[in-house]
Amino acid sequence: MIAANDPKLKSWVEVSRGSDFPIQNLPFGIFKTRYLSPVAGVAIGDYVIDLVYLHENGFLDGVGLPPGVFNQKYLNDFFSLGRKKVGAVRGRISDLLRHNNDELRNNAAAREIGLIAMAETQMLLPINIPNYTDFYSSEEHATNVGSIFRDPKNALLPNWKHLPVAYHGRASSIVISGTPILRPKGQIKPPDAELPVFCPTRKLDFELEMAFISCANTSLGKSIPLREAEDHMIGFVLFNDWSARDIQQWEYVPLGPFLGKNFGSTISPWIVTLDALEPFRSEGPDQIPHVLPYLSFTGKRNLDVTLEVLIASENSEPTTVCRTNSKYLYWNAAQQLAHHTVNGCNIQVGDVYASGTISGPSPGSYGSLLELSWNGQRPLHMPDGTERTFLEDGDTVIMRGHAEKDGVRIGFGECIGKILPAT
Ligand code: MN
Repeated sequence: MIAANDPKLKSWVEVSRGSDFPIQNLPFGIFKTRYLSPVAGVAIGDYVIDLVYLHENGFLDGVGLPPGVFNQKYLNDFFSLGRKKVGAVRGRISDLLRHNNDELRNNAAAREIGLIAMAETQMLLPINIPNYTDFYSSEEHATNVGSIFRDPKNALLPNWKHLPVAYHGRASSIVISGTPILRPKGQIKPPDAELPVFCPTRKLDFELEMAFISCANTSLGKSIPLREAEDHMIGFVLFNDWSARDIQQWEYVPLGPFLGKNFGSTISPWIVTLDALEPFRSEGPDQIPHVLPYLSFTGKRNLDVTLEVLIASENSEPTTVCRTNSKYLYWNAAQQLAHHTVNGCNIQVGDVYASGTISGPSPGSYGSLLELSWNGQRPLHMPDGTERTFLEDGDTVIMRGHAEKDGVRIGFGECIGKILPAT
């Protein structure tokens, strides 16, 4: 077991029950305060640890880090040091925060300057994202969408169980949690109309996803074998792949998603390391027919992460509309990366690889409004008496996720976005 994951560990920093950030988590992010320009930090309980302070004051000396690696707007340079080095930093911070370690605890100045109340921080986009790929790895989601958009009898296309289907998304429009989303405009073709019209989307949707972040640059022509794929992943975030279903449905033939997707995607601010998620590995669904050798794997490659989506409106408190789990995904992250590079496609540090909408087997576990309302046929009821088939202006979508076992809860924080009217 990784020592920093020991369920018995306790921190001298008070961590309330149900916190997403116990000492066993220690996710990385980029934050600023009224006094600090953007720097790297680690979350513990309701606090953020300033990694620049720790590094500059010798608390990370044993790890062997380049100067200035945390004094940056993005975590790319730090992550490019690789999983081992990032794991060593997490291990050292775990030591410093342990209840019986007084290096920081008994150093009033260090506590005062190095440990900042989360309420006083603003989280920023933690990585400079060179590339973003969106997979389509949930069998339940692909089946639902195939049934709604095409044909319930042939919902899955013939390739679906042979390869992890994906498209190249837009990296420039990925935003940090809390950034408002403008209702996009575009071409739609109403079912009863002969010609398309240009207007704000009438079918604005969320997609509940998780995404992994890469921590390596590979050269063009090199494939990453599946058994090495996880060495190239630093960790996971929650990911909302906002979608305009009417724009999407009209434009997607024959080349796939474009303007129905690229107006914005939201990520949660804390990158939860794959190391921290190690105890929550889970079996995925059986893969029948058998996959080609380059996609075959051993061991547990899925993650048991409970996921939830809430919608709040101007007049309604947040209400849960979906509960699901990432363990349902048919294609796991290692298969996704092995497939992505099997043709020699190179990867870059900070790339975002999203899972695709994560839907489970029951209607309450569908990860999009397209599925939850069955393309508008089954409205959802909000506490204020209104109905939702798709998102209204003023709605806020909140995604949460956590893994839990042996009394340890590894959470992701929140991935939030509010819909503003089209301009
Ligand atoms: Mn998606």
